[in-house]
Amino acid sequence: MRLCKSVNGCTKIYGIIGHPITHTLSPLIHNTLYEMLIQNNIYIPFDVSLSGLERALTGAYELNIQGINVTVPYKETVIPYLLDVEAYGKQIGAVNTLKKSKGGYIGYNTDGWGLLKSLSENDIQIKNKTVLIIGAGGAARSVAMMIAAQNPKKLFISNRTIKRGEDLANDVAYYYSIPLEICLLDSIDRIDKVDVCIQTTSVGMHPNKDQTPVHSDDFFYKIGSAVDLIYSPWETLFLKKARRAGCKTVNGFGMLFYQGIKAYEIWTEGNISKDRLDALFQMLKSNLNF
Ligand code: NAP
Repeated sequence: MRLCKSVNGCTKIYGIIGHPITHTLSPLIHNTLYEMLIQNNIYIPFDVSLSGLERALTGAYELNIQGINVTVPYKETVIPYLLDVEAYGKQIGAVNTLKKSKGGYIGYNTDGWGLLKSLSENDIQIKNKTVLIIGAGGAARSVAMMIAAQNPKKLFISNRTIKRGEDLANDVAYYYSIPLEICLLDSIDRIDKVDVCIQTTSVGMHPNKDQTPVHSDDFFYKIGSAVDLIYSPWETLFLKKARRAGCKTVNGFGMLFYQGIKAYEIWTEGNISKDRLDALFQMLKSNLNF
């Protein structure tokens, strides 16, 4: 209702591209933020096919779309069509935020930043801590680079497929000189004790709520804090088992929220006060029905 009334010739347009795009929560986050800050902006989801990706970006540029989030499956494939990519996005080889600048879009990756902010909001430290990342896919890459940059005491990467785990560990080792070890997901029980365990696989995501990548219940007694990148369901089986074993638990909504806030800050070069952020977070959380 508000959007219909207020869109005019001065409205700044932002959006998200992906395929499929029907389940994205980013429009809710950004449009609620604009409403809260009384800003003449609008944020729209765009379902783009792979064959149309380059044309979509050229069109977006010509239509003066100021900023674009990029989601699955284009975080990597979009890079050849960009003017440039900031350093952290280059390390990861994937971007989730594009900012319009003279001559094209610049790519950024705010996923790892979003996770880090969510951890700090939950009083979870990484520096000098032992961290285990479960998974080695796209999300794990941004998480691993950001965790490695915080100087953990040791980083374990555990994946179902060893090759993908090795590739990620090699890429992390190229940029950061930290103690690193990889292990097969099947052998995760041999890891002794970790301060923070970050679950980055898609296992346990809606509608497969009864699945978890770790099957041994004993494993959860070795963890201090358990983090899952999934937020639907709100509490995955992984987090449920961790909570029952006495761990502090954090789901992926904070990461999603703060990566979006970071994108907003990149686009507008503005900052939002903590009070407003906390209010927005609570408002969105109470409106979600997972
Ligand atoms: P991806 O690139 O497809 O990677 C999937 C990962 O899950 C791989 O490590 C894969 O292992 C593992 N995996 C898949 N099925 C498995 C199974 N049955 N058993 C064990 N491991 C399995 O996906 P992604 O983009 O990294 O996304 C992963 C999850 O993170 C999704 O649930 C996504 O929604 C979530 N995510 C959340 C946020 C947020 O803001 N909260 C941001 C990004 C992603 P293999 O290498 O062996 O195949």
